[in-house]
Order: sequence, then C-alpha cells, then structure tokens
Amino acid sequence: MEQRQFLLGQQDLPRSWYNITADLGEAPPPPLHPGTKQPCGPQDLAPIFPMALIEQEVSPQRYIDIPDEVLDILALWRPTPLYRATRLEKALGTPAKIFYKYEGTSPVGSHKPNTAVAQAYYNKLAGTKRIATETGAGQWGSALSMACNFFGIECTVYMVKVSYYQKPYRKSLMQTFGATIYPSPSDQTQFGRKMLEQDPDCRGSLGIAISEALEDTVTSENVKYSLGSVLNHVLMHQTIIGQEAKKQMQMAGAYPDVVIGCVGGGSNFAGLAFPFLQDKFAGKSLRTVAVEPTACPSLTKGKYEYDFGDTANMTPLLKMHTLGSTFIPPGIHAGGLRYHGMAPLVSFLADKGHIEALAYDQLPVFDAALKFARSEGIIPAPESAHAIRAVIDEALKAKEERKERVILFNLSGNGMLDLGAYEDYLAGKLEQ
Ligand SMILES: *Cc1c(COP(=O)(O)O)cnc(C)c1O
Repeated sequence: MEQRQFLLGQQDLPRSWYNITADLGEAPPPPLHPGTKQPCGPQDLAPIFPMALIEQEVSPQRYIDIPDEVLDILALWRPTPLYRATRLEKALGTPAKIFYKYEGTSPVGSHKPNTAVAQAYYNKLAGTKRIATETGAGQWGSALSMACNFFGIECTVYMVKVSYYQKPYRKSLMQTFGATIYPSPSDQTQFGRKMLEQDPDCRGSLGIAISEALEDTVTSENVKYSLGSVLNHVLMHQTIIGQEAKKQMQMAGAYPDVVIGCVGGGSNFAGLAFPFLQDKFAGKSLRTVAVEPTACPSLTKGKYEYDFGDTANMTPLLKMHTLGSTFIPPGIHAGGLRYHGMAPLVSFLADKGHIEALAYDQLPVFDAALKFARSEGIIPAPESAHAIRAVIDEALKAKEERKERVILFNLSGNGMLDLGAYEDYLAGKLEQ
C-alpha cells in the first residue's frame, strides 16, 4: 500500500507567520489614500483596523510570532492533513504524483479561520466590541462568526444576497455562533438602500457588501472591520498552510514541481504557495499556478492598476489585477471566487512572472469535482474544484508527455454546505 497520509502533531504547529514582502527585493506599490492619492499612513487605516494588524500589513519583518492565544484555538483542528491522491492518480492513469493539503477539516470547512482567529484576537486586545464584515458564499462569515464567538466579540455579517438565498445553512451556521446576518444590499446602510432604490432585485456582490460593512464600521462606536482575503496581513496569516505542507512533503520524500490553488482574493493560494516561493527565490525551480473562474477573471483578464476594493469607493486604492470596482459577476456557484480584484501581493508576483494564472468555466470545474469526489471520497468546495481542474489537466499532460511530475494543491474547503450546487450540476441545470 502506498503511503497516503502525512500527518503532523500539535507540536509541529508553525510558531510564526511568513511575510513574503521581506523577500521581494522591492516594495510592491503601496495603497493610496482615495482623496490625496498619497500612500496611506497607519492613521488612515486606524478607524477600520486595530493597530497591530495595520503594523502587520506594512511590516518588513520576514517572520512574525503567532500569539499563544491564537495557537491555542488553531490547535482545535491544526495541523491539517496532507494526503497523496493515489486513487485519483490511478483513475487518471497518470505518472504524476498528486498531493493535497486539506483545509476542509476546520470547524467551518475551509482555510478562512486561520486568519479569522488572528484578526479576532488582535481586535480583542484593542478593545473592539463588534466586528462588521461581508461574506460571499458564507465561508468567511462562518469563520469570523466562530472566531468572534471564541473571543467574546459581536459579529455583523453582510452576506451577498444571491448566496444568502442559495446557502441558507451557512446563515444558520453563523447564527449558531451568535452572529447577526443581513442579505446585501440591505436596508441597514445608506449605500445598501441606494443600491436597492436603483435595482430592487440587485443580487449583490462582494464589492457592495464590503461598502456596507465599512459604512457600518465608520458610523458606529467601537466597531472595527475585517476582511477575509486580499490584504497582506490576511495572506500572511494563511502561510501556516504552506509551512506545514513543506514539512509534510519532506515526510513524503517529495518536492512539488508545481503548486496549484484557486484564487478569489488570493489568500488560500498565497497561504500554500508563498512558503514555496521563498524556496524559489532562494534558487529552487518550481511553478505556481493560480486558478480562477472565467466568470470573474481578474488575474487573467483584469487590468493591473489602482482600483477600489469596494463598490462605493470607500477603501484605499490598491494596485491589483481588477475587473473594475463596479463589476457585478454572474451568480456562479463558486461564490468565494466572485471578487472583482486580486490581492496586491499576488498581483505583483503575477506581474513579475513568478505566478502563472488560468481560468476555467464552471462545467469543466464541476466535472473535475466529481472525478475527485468519486476517487478520493471528499466532496470539494466549488471554489477548490477550480484548483482540481487545473491539477487534473496538469496530470493528464504528464501522462501525454510520459513524464513524472509532483503536483501539490490546496483543497481549500469541503463542499458539504454547497450540495445545492452539486444538485444543480447533477440535474444538468448549470450553465456555461
Ligand atoms: C473563500 C474561499 C476561497 C477563495 O478565497 P481566497 O482568498 O482566494 O482563498 C477559496 N476556497 C474556499 C473554500 C473559500 O471558502
């Protein structure tokens, strides 16, 4: 029997986060103040984030210690397992070795609590009473609701309306942790009411929900805002994934030729890929591939320019691959990948040629999801299935070329609360 599982113990939990900006050789373009167009100072961000997170956002330090209180909660499910997909390899008849880091073992089913717990912790230290946020498919809202619950902070979630109705169990999950949920656009904020006036049937978007959460934050006392992806500190919190995976690949006696992840805002991909890119900067040869939906192709079709992170243009301007802050993507099932922009760090690395990007339509993506489920037994989140599509194509290419190849990908979440999407796919109701 081939070894399938590569497991670490609690003592192997990474003790620091890896900050890739220390290894870039040059600073990526800074966020700009929307009024003055000058680089943002810490004081510009102080109304919405606690200072400890602002410091991490701009830190030049290569490693930042993970507080014990954060590790103590991460240890509820971390380290996560790394598996070799031997049954998928057989099903494809490929000489490639396929490994996956499985982040779907967290209590809410994705990688997102890795940063939610850290962000809630620093907010607790700063005396924050309530955190406002947005959520697309509900994964981020679930993660932050759980984290806020652990630290005794209230949580308000503006959930993109199309997902609010497509994924009712996500709402129940968040409510179980004590959070308050509004379908966005909502009647709770001025911006939400304006969007509803313009179009009462507006399905919502992450950009709109972010604007609502920000408005709630800046118009309320002792409320802070929290973002589940895109920003430097969020990507950094996710690097525990790649640090664990490096140890686990060592246990497997293999090193990846290619590292693959799906990208919405870029955090799960960065979490796995950045610690490997550190090796690449030190001379290792390695490819990294970011995979997105053709319905929201920021990295493959977007422009690399300064743009707002939200629809009401309240955020600082970020230099990123963007489809435009007013872009409202179609209601595809991979709700977590429906964001108009891309993390500035991922955008910068793609622009420099360190990261490749691919886009897939949702039909071939669900086809890959089923192949994976039927060989490995895990039903992947529709977001993660984008990575699986790219993995399968990479493995089939290896078969054609009769070449061995080690593929590592991030299975960022499970699809147990996305079965409605599978139901539609199996009933032939999903469209290109
Ligand atoms: C949110 C989410 C994503 C996309 O967000 P990133 O920041 O790009 O990682 C991908 N997979 C799952 C399971 C998610 O919940």
